[in-house]
Amino acid sequence: MSQPSTPTSPSAPQAEIIQLCSRHFTSIPLSLSRFQRRWFLTFPRAYGLPDPDSQRIVCALNSPDYSATDQHARSHFWLNPSCRSQRYNPSDSTTKYSAVSPIHLLLDSDYPVARLTGRIRAEPSNDPHDGGKRIACYEVEVVTPDSGLLRQCYYCLSWEAAGKADTRFSPSGNDIYWCCSVCLCVRTSILSNSSDSVRGGWLG
Ligand SMILES: [Zn+2]
Ligand SMILES: [Zn+2]
Repeated sequence: MSQPSTPTSPSAPQAEIIQLCSRHFTSIPLSLSRFQRRWFLTFPRAYGLPDPDSQRIVCALNSPDYSATDQHARSHFWLNPSCRSQRYNPSDSTTKYSAVSPIHLLLDSDYPVARLTGRIRAEPSNDPHDGGKRIACYEVEVVTPDSGLLRQCYYCLSWEAAGKADTRFSPSGNDIYWCCSVCLCVRTSILSNSSDSVRGGWLG
């Protein structure tokens, strides 16, 4: 593993987390997050969720595509409509948000977030009710910069914008972020012990 450079200050210049909202939807604003090749709709704030660290993911948007180049995968994904029926957190009772239509929210956001490239392909459905049948998936190009995506700390699993402080989490490469100097210490000791047992929030 290459050693990423460590900034001396935990807060890079502040960039806005992009919020997806549309006058056509009654949903509260959502945000977009990426962990490597997986994309997620997320809550941009804790919104009084009882267990905000484990409930900020609203739904997954895609199955990771390892055939794409790194460069392409950083701004494109195949929106698989069945992914949103996968429950990310078994203890999550915020089922009312399953009514959100990700494709409409992405394309109809008042702030431009994404567009369809026009490419369509078939992928297996992730919905157990579909019995493995193939469904149409739409390639999406994300047009917001990486700094507009909501970040999770890889080490303590906290999310940005959880409280009053709006400090952005610092990048450590490969979609891994750290929230504070304590978590940076954890990261450093993990690297020096060359342990493989890194706890990753995204992968559960
Ligand atoms: Zn942390
Ligand atoms: Zn921390």
